[in-house]
Amino acid sequence: MSDVKTLLGKRCPEEKINNIRAYHDVPRSAIIKLKVNEAYFLIYNITCMHRQSQSNEEYQGFELGPIRPPSEANSLLLRITRNCPWNKCKFCGLYTGERFSIRSVEHVCEDIDHVRYFVDEIHQAIHSSKDPKRTIANLQVSLSSADQLAFHSALNWLRAGMKSVFLQDANTLVMKPRDLVFILKHLRSRFPQIERVTSYARSHSVARINDADIADLAAAGLNRIHIGMESACNEVLDFIKKGVDKQTHILAGQKVKKAGIELSEYFMPGLGGKSLSRENAVESADALNQIDPDFIRIRTLAIPEMTELNVDVENENFKPLGDRELAEELLLFLESLQNIHSMVKSDHILNLFQEVEGQLPQDREKMISPIKVFLGMQPQEQLLYIVGRRTGVFMNLSDLNDTMLRKHAEKALIAHHVTLQNVDKWVSEMVKRFI
Ligand code: SF4
Repeated sequence: MSDVKTLLGKRCPEEKINNIRAYHDVPRSAIIKLKVNEAYFLIYNITCMHRQSQSNEEYQGFELGPIRPPSEANSLLLRITRNCPWNKCKFCGLYTGERFSIRSVEHVCEDIDHVRYFVDEIHQAIHSSKDPKRTIANLQVSLSSADQLAFHSALNWLRAGMKSVFLQDANTLVMKPRDLVFILKHLRSRFPQIERVTSYARSHSVARINDADIADLAAAGLNRIHIGMESACNEVLDFIKKGVDKQTHILAGQKVKKAGIELSEYFMPGLGGKSLSRENAVESADALNQIDPDFIRIRTLAIPEMTELNVDVENENFKPLGDRELAEELLLFLESLQNIHSMVKSDHILNLFQEVEGQLPQDREKMISPIKVFLGMQPQEQLLYIVGRRTGVFMNLSDLNDTMLRKHAEKALIAHHVTLQNVDKWVSEMVKRFI
């Protein structure tokens, strides 16, 4: 045990201790009798608060970023950084024109505290009010617009069981590890029941973090990292300006796994276009074979209007694959995955085959089978499946056997005037609705 005031000396004025006390909701007696490591944690907290008090940016209320992975639908979304620090990938228009910034540790912690406050308020309304719905509605009406966001996040998260948190936006791991550790510890202390904290990260950023720092992040409770690998073919990576090469993807993935953090890698069929389709499949599978991630997530390329890749398409510098060619690429990719134990997920509406999901190696044939069946079908039958899938009538290839769904797909085919000649162009327009 140690007297924290002795440790902190002049760096710990009275009002700072009071701030910390209020911040962490602990009695003063507990603060002045902290263990040494806790005291250093406190020093760090004070340093952060001091730093933020010197910065110009004021807290603007709870923030939400634009996206999350489909698997994080039930997670609390906590914005750590804004937008993307890279923002150059040719196929991505998500953050075009948006400036990247890292939110202050203090502001993120305030977001966490806001959610804690509203979770408690909603709990109280549910358990002590005679009319919880009305009490919650009244609570909501009385809030400012900034607080409405925190309130809705708390309410949705409470309904989902408060088990997981997703850290936004595109690359949380660009933040200093010690800052992120601090946020994770604060989050875990305010919500001890959390089972999973996940984040997006770029391979480039992960590869630069040293092993000790990534181990600290794991120890502080970062459980899963989603990396948008997209491709591990160097020619493709160069062309689409991913800012990373195959070796860096491998290094980053292996580093995450070594730290004991779950790893989710995204593969993008179609990103090599017609000229690099084979390389996109084979090189990406080879990198994943060396990483053995926990999850491989398929997210088929769709090209938004306002992107550099769309300009390449218009200038004929990039020739996108049609659905039949995409199926061939996906088959080659799956067949090239060897000696790994990843769970393959196809959890995105852009994918032609939602049923291509399973655990490697035992589910390989189950995943490959519908693709082979599709490739063996007559062109007109393939066309019907493509139209049914792209209009949302079909979920799986087996839906072709459902008489009612089949009729709907046939109607859609006629209504959209889709033919074997125009189907690729038609699909490229249809999928833009989902980007
Ligand atoms: S790193 Fe991700 S978010 Fe950033 S530009 Fe590339 S794809 Fe978009």
